[in-house]
Amino acid sequence: MAIKILPARLANQIAAGEVVERPASVVKELIENSLDAGATRIEIDIEKGGAKLIRLRDNGCGISKDELALALSRHATSKVSTLEDLEQIMSLGFRGEALASISSVARLTLTSKTAEQSEAWQAMAEGRDMEVKLMPASHPQGTTLEVSDLFFNTPARRKFMRTEKTEFGHIDEVVRRIALSRFDLDVILRHNGKQIRQYRAGRLPSQQDKRLAAVCGPAFINSALRLDSEHHGFRLWGWLAPPGAARAQPDVQYTYVNGRMMRDKLLNHAVRQAYGERLPADSHGAFVLYLELDAKEVDVNVHPAKHEVRFHQSRLVHDFIYQVLAQALEQAPLIPSAESSS
Ligand code: ADP
Ligand code: MG
Repeated sequence: MAIKILPARLANQIAAGEVVERPASVVKELIENSLDAGATRIEIDIEKGGAKLIRLRDNGCGISKDELALALSRHATSKVSTLEDLEQIMSLGFRGEALASISSVARLTLTSKTAEQSEAWQAMAEGRDMEVKLMPASHPQGTTLEVSDLFFNTPARRKFMRTEKTEFGHIDEVVRRIALSRFDLDVILRHNGKQIRQYRAGRLPSQQDKRLAAVCGPAFINSALRLDSEHHGFRLWGWLAPPGAARAQPDVQYTYVNGRMMRDKLLNHAVRQAYGERLPADSHGAFVLYLELDAKEVDVNVHPAKHEVRFHQSRLVHDFIYQVLAQALEQAPLIPSAESSS
């Protein structure tokens, strides 16, 4: 067979396979873009579990008229320009793939206004050649991304979408994870016109507790141990349920590395090891943990959807986490387990 260069659209659809698994992955990418744009408020509207519509409006810096089309093309990013940048990424995005990927498998409308511009502009990407149409629009400073008919042109992907309820559940989970990554962010989530979540911004401990209770349940916050330790330039802070209380909260397992939500193997391993034999065999720990370290110590360019990271000093990071948690659990007051107290 002859070797051919893939048409741009097909190449984007292949890349989309890695980034856009389901509606929730679109929501994650859009929220990350808003956070990178400095937004303090985001409003998300979902219709039919995201299959029909995903709309996100933010109050970030916006995209200027002459960069709208560029934002939609592949490998176009304002966040990284040199290898050095790539080695110490502070932004959530850096691959310049999300919008191009999404627009290759859905109909996408991008409306934005920067502070310098007097009017807003809208770009629409649809059709085979990814031709972008520009027109004037009405919008306050910030950006609205509208993604409709996800996977309309990729039937194989569309078949993998689950029920509206399941897909919305995944979206809700992404929003909860984000809500815990940024206490200073106002978030509203609506489904089919109905408001499902509203998280209000607030940095005070009492406001943090309130959000934590909203996301993880009041039982978690009532029993959780608060921790905050620093060593070797690593900082670990957050909340950890003592073993007796952990059993009732199997779903509360949130980990963040430098503000980025993660399901990291090394982190999870260190946590499991710290709980060790304190946990009954069939139960899981419950925790919300934030690891902070120099950006140069972490490689975030490991996974297309950025779910994983690699630590340069993985042993040291692992042992640090283990020690902080084991020590916290050691000092935890003994709480009767759910069984023995009933
Ligand atoms: P990446 O986030 O990896 O840079 P994306 O495809 O997600 O790639 O976005 C491309 C570019 O579009 C970003 O680098 C940014 O400049 C711009 N952009 C996307 N979303 C927003 C937004 N909500 N506000 C401002 N700029 C945005
Ligand atoms: Mg992005």
